[in-house]
Amino acid sequence: MQLERLVCNACGAPLEVPASAKFVTCGHCSGQLQIRRTESAVYTEILADLAEKTEELSERIDDLAANSELTAIDSNWQMERESLMVRDKHGNRHVPTKGSSIAAGVAATLFGCFWTVMAIRWTSTAPAVGVFSVTKIVFPAFGIIVIALGIYNSMTNITKAEKYKRAERRYRQQRSEADRS
Ligand SMILES: [Zn+2]
Repeated sequence: MQLERLVCNACGAPLEVPASAKFVTCGHCSGQLQIRRTESAVYTEILADLAEKTEELSERIDDLAANSELTAIDSNWQMERESLMVRDKHGNRHVPTKGSSIAAGVAATLFGCFWTVMAIRWTSTAPAVGVFSVTKIVFPAFGIIVIALGIYNSMTNITKAEKYKRAERRYRQQRSEADRS
């Protein structure tokens, strides 16, 4: 049996091991060693170190996995957020809130009421014939439409605001759960 001369990587004691051996226990310090063979050298490595390295590596992989999970949660939320945002009258996108939705609805209702009252007043003196009778209906009707659209938009945006809040809460929960694991 061919023997190899090695040195214990833990205590430095000389070791003689069979050329086929992969692991050896040092007779001097009882260190658990792995025998490493490269093309030009044979050496020993303490198994405890190896276990530590493996543990370190698996920790790093866990970190990476947790990170990519967080990234996935974040980008999902970004997409969901985009889809739940509303456009204001200037065309800017913003997060819907209950308050601004209600305020917009109230503003539209007030304007609509004002318009309707004024329109009725303006057209009240007009004769109820031909084109005048049409304006008697169309002018006040415009105000009613503004009120209806305002209330409809307001309700829609309130629903969106609630949906957004729920989605945001879900996102935060998912994120903190992923962060903990
Ligand atoms: Zn040793």
